[in-house]
Amino acid sequence: MTSLPMSDYYFRQFEHDGADAPAGRKGRIFSAICQGDAPTRKKLATDMALRPATVSDLVMELIHDGLITESRPAQSLQKGRPEILLTPAPGRLCAVIFHFVSHTMHCAVVDLAGTILFETTEQVQADKIDKQGFIDVLSSLAGKCTAHIPGSAKQCGYALSLPGIVDEPGKRWVYSAYWPKLSDFDLSEVSETLGHDVIVRKNLNCELRARTSRRKSLGTGKTLLIHWGIGIGAAFISNDRELVLTEGFGEIGHCVLDPLSTVSCKCGMIGCMEAEAGLWALATMSQDQSIPINEQKFEDYLQDCTDKSFLKRPLLLMAHTLRNLTLTLMPDEIVLTGPFVQCPETFQRLTERFELIFPEGALVRKGRKPKIVSGRRSKSDELVGAAFDLFRTEIGALCRI
Ligand SMILES: [Zn+2]
Repeated sequence: MTSLPMSDYYFRQFEHDGADAPAGRKGRIFSAICQGDAPTRKKLATDMALRPATVSDLVMELIHDGLITESRPAQSLQKGRPEILLTPAPGRLCAVIFHFVSHTMHCAVVDLAGTILFETTEQVQADKIDKQGFIDVLSSLAGKCTAHIPGSAKQCGYALSLPGIVDEPGKRWVYSAYWPKLSDFDLSEVSETLGHDVIVRKNLNCELRARTSRRKSLGTGKTLLIHWGIGIGAAFISNDRELVLTEGFGEIGHCVLDPLSTVSCKCGMIGCMEAEAGLWALATMSQDQSIPINEQKFEDYLQDCTDKSFLKRPLLLMAHTLRNLTLTLMPDEIVLTGPFVQCPETFQRLTERFELIFPEGALVRKGRKPKIVSGRRSKSDELVGAAFDLFRTEIGALCRI
């Protein structure tokens, strides 16, 4: 069976009208084909309590749209005409995703199954590139990618998966420590340059949505993702499979835990968490000039580092951040990513400190305790999560009748 990541997110839009309603019926049939094991028309009609002729018509439309294909089983033991099996054709829809790793801009073509059909990169000077230079690189990368989209595929648009503070509905990149000249960047006009729809997403939201979509067992659980790296950011999802906090949420790097702190943040404020515990700040403040301002290199540095005393205050502040967010959001699970928590010793010190300042006996804790895990950032999750809205919209347009 072809596996479609995030398929239950895509198909939720067809459930609102009720299982028997004509509206959304085509989408529900497509959903059954994607989530079933190569069903036949007959099985679909039985399972969905629909007239066989209705199923046949809608299946023909889906084949015409290119969203599914039909095939005969290799060997049929049945007498008479073998039943024709229906399977999804994920290569029919694709999206072009821009994403960023340190100083490199990446651009990838992904299909509905999350398969990367083509990828290209361009190295830039993140601290020097200006808005026009950035748009020029986007155009160049987009040109290379679209040239590799198969003729049978429909491009559903572009998505920018961005680090830092992102205003998704306003299509505005507000701030990123890595890209100082791109602050308050209105990206709504990039659509005109690229000649297609462009959506703007915060990378942590993309990753969290894809990460939680793989879990069937969490039910109505709530997951908080915290990235502790160059900067500090968060994303939160309530697993009713709809709610991702997008507008202005997650800027925990710019909260204050010590009001007497005098450190200056790159965002223009004083005393931000990020300016105390973000990698860029630690590397700048430390006497140790060998601390690299690069997440991968810092992970290696931390593994080899014998004196980790410089992490005492950052760990204290991060543990209090966990307590504050636990009391605010009551997540069932907190996933920590970034180079600090990849070091088992540092991760353990953090969770022990959290236990100490959020003890079992505290009345406010009421027996609730989030499971805290360390995780690695996932490129495939980021790409799939960034393409999600483009694919959902296109599937909605093709299947809503
Ligand atoms: Zn700040």
